[in-house]
Amino acid sequence: MSRAAGAIINLSALRHNLKRARELAPHARIMAVVKANAYGHGIVPAVRALAGADAFAVACLDEAVEIRHAGLAHPIVLLEGVFSALELDEAARIGCDVVVHDAHQLALMEASRLQHALTVWIKVDSGMHRLGFPLGEACTAWQRLSTARAVRGPLRLMTHLACADETANPRTQLQLEAFAAATAGISAERSIANSAGILAWPGSHADWLRPGILLYGVSPFAGRSGRDEGLLPVMTLCTTLIAVQQVQKGEAVGYGGGWVAPEDMRIGIAAIGYGDGYPRHAPNGTPVLVNGIRAPLVGRVAMDMISVDLRGVPQARVHDPVLLWGAELPVEEIARAAGTIAYELLCGITQRVKFSVVEENQAPAALSSVHSIGR
Ligand SMILES: *Cc1c(COP(=O)(O)O)cnc(C)c1O
Repeated sequence: MSRAAGAIINLSALRHNLKRARELAPHARIMAVVKANAYGHGIVPAVRALAGADAFAVACLDEAVEIRHAGLAHPIVLLEGVFSALELDEAARIGCDVVVHDAHQLALMEASRLQHALTVWIKVDSGMHRLGFPLGEACTAWQRLSTARAVRGPLRLMTHLACADETANPRTQLQLEAFAAATAGISAERSIANSAGILAWPGSHADWLRPGILLYGVSPFAGRSGRDEGLLPVMTLCTTLIAVQQVQKGEAVGYGGGWVAPEDMRIGIAAIGYGDGYPRHAPNGTPVLVNGIRAPLVGRVAMDMISVDLRGVPQARVHDPVLLWGAELPVEEIARAAGTIAYELLCGITQRVKFSVVEENQAPAALSSVHSIGR
């Protein structure tokens, strides 16, 4: 029998979450962020399911090429722009829009003798201090790009929020004001909001939204889950029990023997580990669902296996379904337990895990009937 570890990607949940973003900002257009293989969900199925978005955003040219190779012609924006004249030619050839965020990229645009001009987003640094022209250079960049031959149509403006997930942090309002002031004289479409901006900062909605994590059904706010925001989780990570052990009081379980049975009890061994992307730092007590019932992790997470306390699931047997995260167990809760964020867990699912794409949410029991896709 092949390994049971699987990720189920629920396309109707993706579409629901896109609709939710539209409801939150009905007058804005949506650039769906599908970088990092659509946050680990599979870029091609994600783009197909999110075809109702107005554009797609990726981090690099390779990701755009993957979308085009699948035969998908949707508008794509390269969020970090291009890094050479060769990349610029390729971006134009496959019909991408580019971000221009620094003097090097600006010079590339000015020097280019492109056949196909492309749409440019000028990125302004309004306070995150990662990418973008300083506030005082926004207008000059605008003027220079206005006359660059490689630029097609109206230029657009973009900035990125550093602290939008902290709803009481005053920096967001300062960034919004700084961006507005630095670009006051420019008539152009603007894009500011990531997921947290969309959900918590109506003043950031502007003309184009850039939702990422919310499309995958996850809340960007600490202590909250997607459900609290009216979102539906898209990924279910599941596996099965491959062994059930009877351990005696005082016996240690797993590497290092750090967890010791407090009484005679049963332990379930589930086929999932850090080799699949389950976080190694998940501590004792991190919940999993065995047959839909919460059971705590015990002992260290290994590459291929975890151990689970079955005292609360006395009927559990080998082959029973184990859910690591999904609709009934928010990935946000597992991320919190493991000292990380849901973004990292979702992006970290490895090659070994079987991906299945389904139209509606399906229980793990229905897994055998779903169409499995390679990655
Ligand atoms: C990744 C990214 C986003 C999406 O962020 P989320 O927090 O996932 O919504 C938006 N804009 C830029 C520039 C990004 O790099």
